Amino acid sequence: MPQIDTSKVSRWDLHGREYVVHIRRTGLQRTIRCATCGWRTGARFLPWLKAQEHLTRAHQATVDPSNRRVPSAGPPVPDH
Ligand SMILES: [Zn+2]
Repeated sequence: MPQIDTSKVSRWDLHGREYVVHIRRTGLQRTIRCATCGWRTGARFLPWLKAQEHLTRAHQATVDPSNRRVPSAGPPVPDH
């Protein structure tokens, strides 16, 4: 049974719309496909980087939803 692992990169644009690029491994290559516009390409290395680049250039989607937790100005850290 062949192993197919898929992953995705999702970014939001400044209007809060989500864009997803799917990355699928096929042998040595990885196929990258944008769920929004149908763009696709292949990459042997760093497919996530290509996905990000596409999202930025084509959709101006630069906000990483997994990176939204901003260290808040919460309770002060106690000093020793
Ligand atoms: Zn796209």
